Amino acid sequence: MADKNLISTKKCPACQQWSRWQQQAADRCEHCGELLDPRAHGEAQQQAATEHLRGGIQLVEINPEDGAVTRFFKTLVRGGQLVFIAILGFIVWLVTVVAG
Ligand SMILES: [Zn+2]
Repeated sequence: MADKNLISTKKCPACQQWSRWQQQAADRCEHCGELLDPRAHGEAQQQAATEHLRGGIQLVEINPEDGAVTRFFKTLVRGGQLVFIAILGFIVWLVTVVAG
């Protein structure tokens, strides 16, 4: 126990025992092995999944030297991409909620 500030404890929601945790979403109870913060864990997973999905989407670059028509179409495509990313995020959220 060199630095007390770095060590905190959390009551395990599964077995009601106090367990050490590093305030990480993936930390598990040292008594029963259940997640200490299942909700944060779900959010972290959801975020990672969304990042993973949108990693494959390259947003259209809009250059200042593009003509008005090119810029107009690029803006449309870009808007579509952003909507698509939002829908992906929603699906990931839905799956996370349904999976519990
Ligand atoms: Zn436990």
